[in-house]
Amino acid sequence: MKVTKQKGTRDIYLDDIKIWQFVERNIREIANAYNLNEIRTPVFEATELFSRGVGEETDVVNKEMYTFLDKGGRSITLRPELTAGVVRSYIENGFDSYISPIKFWYMGNMYRYEKMQKGRYREFSQFGVEIFGSKSYKADLEAIIISSNFLDRIGLRGKYTLSINSIGCKKCREEYINKLKSYIKPNLSSMCDDCKKRYDKNPLRVLDCKVEKCQEILKDAPMILDNLCDDCKNSFNKVINSLEKLNINYKIDKKIVRGLDYYNGIVYEYTSDDLGLAIGGGGRYDTLVENLGGASTPAVGFGMGLNRVVLLLEDMKEKLKSYVDVYFLITNDEGYIKSLDVIKKLRENGYKIEQDLSEKSFRAQLKYADKIKARYVIILGEDEIKNNKCILRNMENGSQKEICFNFDEIVDNI
Ligand code: AMP
Repeated sequence: MKVTKQKGTRDIYLDDIKIWQFVERNIREIANAYNLNEIRTPVFEATELFSRGVGEETDVVNKEMYTFLDKGGRSITLRPELTAGVVRSYIENGFDSYISPIKFWYMGNMYRYEKMQKGRYREFSQFGVEIFGSKSYKADLEAIIISSNFLDRIGLRGKYTLSINSIGCKKCREEYINKLKSYIKPNLSSMCDDCKKRYDKNPLRVLDCKVEKCQEILKDAPMILDNLCDDCKNSFNKVINSLEKLNINYKIDKKIVRGLDYYNGIVYEYTSDDLGLAIGGGGRYDTLVENLGGASTPAVGFGMGLNRVVLLLEDMKEKLKSYVDVYFLITNDEGYIKSLDVIKKLRENGYKIEQDLSEKSFRAQLKYADKIKARYVIILGEDEIKNNKCILRNMENGSQKEICFNFDEIVDNI
């Protein structure tokens, strides 16, 4: 019986992996430029971390978690997102006594039991940043600059929309939620079942319901952005003004509330029209550290969905194809042994070298060299071995010449 991969998981290989490597390289360069500390946390955590952190009533926790009892009877969950894990680590390792603010970046796989479609998987990867210890709008702005810089840098400028909103602080949100509930109440019976539940447990989330009849009802609903306290309004305006100055395109979307419970203040999403999906999102979460047992610590962060980013870079495949510098075409043992030293030295000096590993014929090796896109082929036949020479073939134009068989001569000619 053939064992196949699980629904919603993917193997990544050959041309596709080149795009992933390109993206990952850029992430590392960005992380370095912004002096972000890499953090790697476990793939599984106590279930409670997510129910308390992300929120019991969110889709992620309610419907999508991979949760199981381990052999010791503990309830374990494969991480559906990484902010909660990083916050757990922040508290557990006492990062607050290290430096403040402190900036982390991560990249890793997450797990959500979701209905599959293009760009929606059960195992997917995110690049994210979390900044702890700053209440200032500058931290919000820094996270937006990093995330938009990342997308621009990998070639997606103009191919995404940044939508931004503020969902206020505890103070302005409480007042606003009362207003929103009074607006919704007379129409509640005509809304979808999910919204009926949200009305009591998480009324803000009613705003991003996609059901048409709910949207119709909410058309004239009061919006939190129009009901912010002065501090929240100020931060929002400062971020918006800075985005203008930096030429970072954005649109204000008063309906963005984000799917996870821990956000407050400025929130945003990146979407791709081509995919019709969100490619990333983030915001401020000033209460999460405290909710998970740490000291009160303001924080901001974002997560970018790398599978979707990679889908948008599909047409880079050809450009990112790798080339081999030299293929050593040798069909006898003497030549093979003779070549090993030179090959080793070339590889140590950064050249990408290939040789036959499976006793292929001359013709088959030439075909192989062509397939792996070798720029040069070095042919070492019996005559050449005797004279300490080799034939260097330029695979692009087919020209050939005889050169001495040693490292310096080869390097001079390729
Ligand atoms: P979220 O944590 O839900 O805000 O997700 C952040 C980003 O992760 C999204 O914008 C997506 O790009 C990506 N993402 C979320 N869920 C999935 C999934 N099931 N498959 C692929 N990417 C996802």
